[in-house]
Amino acid sequence: MREKVFLASPHMSDEGYEMQYIKEAFDTNWIAPLGENVNKFEEEICAYTKAQNACALSAGTAALHMALKAVDIQKGDIVFCQSLTFSATANPIMYEGATPVFIDSEKDTWNMSPKALEKAFEKYLNVKAVMIVHLYGTPAKIDEIEKICKEHNTPIIEDAAESLGATYNGKHTGTFGDYGAYSFNGNKIITTSGGGMLVSDSKERIDKVHFWVTQAREPARHYQHNEVGYNYRLSNVLAGIGRGQLKVLEQRINKKTQIYELYKEGFKDIPQITMQPYEENARPNHWLSAIYIDKDSKIQPLDIIEALEKENIESRPVWKPMHMQPVFEQYDFISELQQGSTSQELFEQGVCLPSDTKMTEDTQKEIIQIIRNLFKEV
Ligand SMILES: *Cc1c(COP(=O)(O)O)cnc(C)c1O
Repeated sequence: MREKVFLASPHMSDEGYEMQYIKEAFDTNWIAPLGENVNKFEEEICAYTKAQNACALSAGTAALHMALKAVDIQKGDIVFCQSLTFSATANPIMYEGATPVFIDSEKDTWNMSPKALEKAFEKYLNVKAVMIVHLYGTPAKIDEIEKICKEHNTPIIEDAAESLGATYNGKHTGTFGDYGAYSFNGNKIITTSGGGMLVSDSKERIDKVHFWVTQAREPARHYQHNEVGYNYRLSNVLAGIGRGQLKVLEQRINKKTQIYELYKEGFKDIPQITMQPYEENARPNHWLSAIYIDKDSKIQPLDIIEALEKENIESRPVWKPMHMQPVFEQYDFISELQQGSTSQELFEQGVCLPSDTKMTEDTQKEIIQIIRNLFKEV
């Protein structure tokens, strides 16, 4: 049996940068609390993304949660949220007792549809925030979304968990919104084994987040608390992994882009398959290469997933939209379509293909051949 091929797995630098920073933490006994690696990791993320301020956290989910706190979310507030995403985008809305309204996707980037967003603003007044996602590392139609949100004076929270390093008009995803959240979970383009980062132009708000996530300890010799706190900080050891990983991020993006291009080339003569598209002014990080299979194709996504599974190769359906999830199904969903939805169609017709940066070109060519053979047989 072949060695398992993963969708995306941790990939440490060949140079061992991560271990150097971890060793520094050990040598200075800065295992906890916080320390040099955490401060430097925040600075280095700012230098790379051109974000103004950053707070390193234990998870991307924690970053999204703190973004909602930073916009002063209150119980019952309405939050517009992209439906086609991982549940971690929407869960923090629930933590705060706010009310999500899910917004459909468009076909050009698979992200939030500006038309559906406009329609949602016609229906709801006083929206607290709009949460957009750059799915699989492909930037959303940020220009149009920003314009609409500005007109309605509503802050944007960018879930850039999957899109670190992806740019739009040369500017980094995560730095368009009032707040941006990155994830360093094990499957993301770079990882700290687990971790996240919140970025924002507002120093005052990021300072406040630093305060909340270290148990909201007031500056006093005794333990004084005027607000509810959280224990959401990233450990200094893990921040060391992040600093090492950041050095190879551009290499990872290059490899992910090659993977995307090789799939594109491999399927170009199969009209039933199209790659997840992106805008001309966008540079995706191509975290995952995803394909769309025509509805009337004889070969459907499950056929592909099962054929790859037989060869010990991991692939997955596209995220199941939040408005179709039992936990969120009572909440409103806004689509520009009269019937059905684009996000549902992308879920039903999409497949995420192996995009592991450790995958060799030969292995990827075998994967392409397995899929091509399916289409040859019909
Ligand atoms: C991974 C992910 C998150 C959550 O990040 P964690 O670091 O795992 O908490 C949030 N949103 C999206 C779209 C993700 O893919």
